Amino acid sequence: MMSKALDSILQQEVDKRRTFAIISHPDAGKTTLTEKLLLFGGAIRLAGSVKARKASKHATSDWMEIEKQRGISVTSSVMQFDYKGHRVNILDTPGHQDFSEDTYRTLTAADSAVMLIDVAKGVEAQTVKLFQVCAKRGIPIFTFINKLDREGRSPFELMEEIEAVLGIRSVPMNWPIGMGRELCGVYDRMHNRVELFQGDDHSNIEVKEVDGYADQVIRDMAGDYLHDQLCQDLELLDVAGDPFDLEKVKRGELTPVFFGSAVNNFGVQTFLDNFLDLAPKPEPRPSSKGLIEPTNEKFSGYVFKIQANMNPAHRDRIAFLRICSGKFERGMSVKHIRAGKDIKLSQPQQFLAQDRDIVTEAFPGDIIGLFDPGIFRIGDSLSQGTEIVFDELPTFSPEIFAKVTVKNALKHKQYQKGIDQLTEEGTIQVFNTVSFDDTILGVVGQLQFEVFEYRMKGEYGVDVQLQRVPYQFARWIIDEKIDASKFRINSTLVKDKKGNYVVLFENEYAMRTAMEKNPTAKFLEMAP
Ligand code: GDP
Repeated sequence: MMSKALDSILQQEVDKRRTFAIISHPDAGKTTLTEKLLLFGGAIRLAGSVKARKASKHATSDWMEIEKQRGISVTSSVMQFDYKGHRVNILDTPGHQDFSEDTYRTLTAADSAVMLIDVAKGVEAQTVKLFQVCAKRGIPIFTFINKLDREGRSPFELMEEIEAVLGIRSVPMNWPIGMGRELCGVYDRMHNRVELFQGDDHSNIEVKEVDGYADQVIRDMAGDYLHDQLCQDLELLDVAGDPFDLEKVKRGELTPVFFGSAVNNFGVQTFLDNFLDLAPKPEPRPSSKGLIEPTNEKFSGYVFKIQANMNPAHRDRIAFLRICSGKFERGMSVKHIRAGKDIKLSQPQQFLAQDRDIVTEAFPGDIIGLFDPGIFRIGDSLSQGTEIVFDELPTFSPEIFAKVTVKNALKHKQYQKGIDQLTEEGTIQVFNTVSFDDTILGVVGQLQFEVFEYRMKGEYGVDVQLQRVPYQFARWIIDEKIDASKFRINSTLVKDKKGNYVVLFENEYAMRTAMEKNPTAKFLEMAP
């Protein structure tokens, strides 16, 4: 029986939570924006830590040497802060070209996403990939167009590009007055006010209530030329633009767009206020028992990521769990559904940039890190009471492949152990060729190969050799009779770990031809 008190506490905690990820291409300003957001939450110490990760002042673990050497973040963590009655969780996703499946999977733990776009560069490659994962889930996507203090493309052009490339309509929530050196502020379309920037570095921000965009106050500040342009743009938007429609935003069919400059902290607070207002709280999650309400009294959650060796003193792993319902309390017993065992959650951690804090309680929308002596796999569900299994996490189709061989054949056992564990963590996907029993690794980002080599040596004492093979696409094939001889030219037939047949293709043309020649077969982007 749940007490009334817990019921209303749960409701309150769920209502105030906002869990989101920032999706962007490297260099768009994600670190800068994250830092500013944390500052609003009063988390000044943390803001430094976010930067520190890039500047690599702290050695979090030895295998993360790679990360340090390259000055990038390989792994995603979670940052939490309180702001105006909200408890905000930002899921950090690796932003480098060499991102991984972790990046994709982390997005399944977010309730909404912020798409960050460089005003001069527009929609870039990595943003497209991350956007598609979010769009598949149908979560709301908010857009922040950054670096307005630089000359960039016209806001209309960017809106067109967002629609053409991503297939989503947009609704500007504010509109820039000038750009680059001429930038003097933004007009807030929803609240009829302007934010004006003063000083060379725009460090002074003045917010003024106005009587619509035609208000003389704006003309006095911006001058005739910029004000005329603003009026022209906004008249056009009022007539031809999409009206704001919260239902469409919630379904992921319309993205609210904000303009600003993260480094100058300009437009960031307006964005944060509006975003937290409009972004969804944790929603019910699909499971084997139907939709699970976050306010369900029984605790439940699932593991979306496993990370090894965050602490150099231990060779342990951390399983990241997204709480879906109920209240988490340190030391509580829950059912580990796949293993069919009860386990005690005694060493939970929360991740604030580089620091580990022990969590004593947490609620739906929160992410906790669980000490993992090797009992968790990606996608594992934990629950109290009824056995709830959350829908399986998708396996993403790898895009880069390499043949792997062990330099010292005597190390085969350790090699197999390493392969097994790293696939369980979801770091790599393993395929075996049907004809020669070669092992081929598939990854989403090049860096995963380096991490693989490094960890095989460091943790299992195995030197491996990786030889890139020219495939670019993997498709799981379902057909009555599968004939390896059909896949010889620019393609090859392999099996995944579970024994499913997969065809690797060198190019899109080869893939299309194979599909045409095998009309009865199904080619799937993800494992069935
Ligand atoms: P990330 O790779 O997406 O995390 O990008 P960073 O936050 O590291 O930013 C990349 C570069 O863009 C850095 O040199 C930042 O100082 C710069 N930057 C970020 N925001 C702005 C902005 O609003 N205006 C300008 N001019 N530069 C910015």
